[in-house]
Amino acid sequence: ELIERACAEHGDQLAYSCCLPNGAHASLRFSEIETLSAALAFFLRDDLGLQPGDVVAIQAPNVLGYPVAAFAVMRAGLILTGINPLYTVSEANYQLKDSGAKALFILDLFGDKLAQSLKDTDVRHVIRLSVADQFPTFKRLMIQMVLRHVQKRIPPMAVPSISLAEAIKRGHKKQAGRDAAVLTADRKLDDVAIFQYTGGTTGRSKGAELTERNLLANITQQDTFNGARLRALNEGQETSLLILPLYHVYALAIGAMHAMRSGTHMVLAPNPRPLSNLRSAFEQFEISMLPGINTLFNELLKQEWFTENPPESLRWCFSGAAPLSESTRQRWERLTGCQIYEGYGLTEGTCIVSSSPLDGSAKPGTVGVPIPGTDIRIVDDAGTILAPGEAGEILVRGPQVMRGYLGRPDATKETIRDGWLYTGDIGSLDEDGFLTILDRKKDMLIVSGFNVYPSDIEEVIQSHDAVLEAAVVGVLDDRTGEAPVAYVVPRVAGLGEDDIRRHCEDHLTNYKRPRHYVLVEELPKSPVGKLLRRALREEARQHFG
Ligand code: ATP
Repeated sequence: ELIERACAEHGDQLAYSCCLPNGAHASLRFSEIETLSAALAFFLRDDLGLQPGDVVAIQAPNVLGYPVAAFAVMRAGLILTGINPLYTVSEANYQLKDSGAKALFILDLFGDKLAQSLKDTDVRHVIRLSVADQFPTFKRLMIQMVLRHVQKRIPPMAVPSISLAEAIKRGHKKQAGRDAAVLTADRKLDDVAIFQYTGGTTGRSKGAELTERNLLANITQQDTFNGARLRALNEGQETSLLILPLYHVYALAIGAMHAMRSGTHMVLAPNPRPLSNLRSAFEQFEISMLPGINTLFNELLKQEWFTENPPESLRWCFSGAAPLSESTRQRWERLTGCQIYEGYGLTEGTCIVSSSPLDGSAKPGTVGVPIPGTDIRIVDDAGTILAPGEAGEILVRGPQVMRGYLGRPDATKETIRDGWLYTGDIGSLDEDGFLTILDRKKDMLIVSGFNVYPSDIEEVIQSHDAVLEAAVVGVLDDRTGEAPVAYVVPRVAGLGEDDIRRHCEDHLTNYKRPRHYVLVEELPKSPVGKLLRRALREEARQHFG
């Protein structure tokens, strides 16, 4: 319904473009997304024989075939699961097995790893996506030549497979003029549409069961909250640069699905690292919107091509998924003249739970207010509701809260209690209902009996002019129980541990000051750009006890 409506309202407008580092780009219109995904849906159901409730995985970066495949899976009444394209063979194998996927869309470049990742899984069908999908023939050949050169060779698939183009061709034949809606005629709103795996930053990744109702609700909530306001403030179509990977819920829900509702043109960056690869996208397209995360804003601020010529078309920047540091915000806003609006979301809440209003009432440093239909409360460990200003665990209730975790009834019972989602995040609400996130419950340290939030210490360290970013983790300590250790990435050469130590002594009370400081070139991050605190904690414990 989402796609049919997008096609009716925006049919001829560009829906997705894929921009390569060399400037080559290809695009699909809303009407093309509609016809291609419909044909592919018929291929999945009628040619491969997949049945409603069967699971289909996609493991690919942001190429044009991704949204076509994702929408096809949903239109076929199947369950989608997106796999991180950078996963190792065993990580991909875990998700394929855990989700029970029967078919897999995969980028042809990953073909050589395929046989191993499919070991002991139920996957019987493989559809090859390519970076060159949808490019005109001559460009396609050129791109494949370049890729062959870079990769030495595109390995042959280790298991029988079919290309996306061939699958669509076969689907067209099966479709024979029928509307894709027949495929989902008996799909219920409470049927699962996506097994969305959590980021795995705190433990083994879990599959959140997101229903059709969850997805539609969250898209409508976002649209009611800020979408209408955006349309009123703008004339014409927005162009959004999607650097965040589509397998992650932030990009899928805000970047892909909401774009369908709002008619936004999404520019996909399939290979955003190194960040100089993004230069062509900023040059080729009038990017007006940028959904990002602290790391991304920070890294763009380090690129000379970006800072010397910041895009004038940029009007709306959004940050989520991780804390936005005050120094990043200020530097970004100074350079681009564009405010960053922060929101808060989590896989278990489909995507967005709270967001900053675009009407001038946003409060920097907060993650906005609950979006329509969402209740947020803050409780202490005994479950008592806390007053404004008091910090405790953030609980969320709303139509976007997941049904549960796939195959993990105990984890589900622990996470959803009496209709409330226990987020594991600590925060507070102010008198006006704005939410501030302090940290994750699991990341909080207890030092000499005091609650210490790593993010508090990180913010102080990052306020030092010579510091690019910092991460704080806890180690066990005989005297104080736990003690903070700071990993610091310098912005300029010559920064010493003593400089940061003095800065912390000036700005942090005694028990919050890190016991050790370690200067590093970079911090371990997930492909979305989230700090992998678990990896850092292990390292700190090895070195400091
Ligand atoms: P896992 O749950 O497997 O450890 P993950 O938490 O990274 O992985 P996601 O669902 O991708 O999985 O991330 C959601 C979490 O991201 C939230 O619970 C919260 O801790 C953090 N987060 C999201 N938005 C913000 C924000 N604006 N500021 C600070 N933290 C945020």
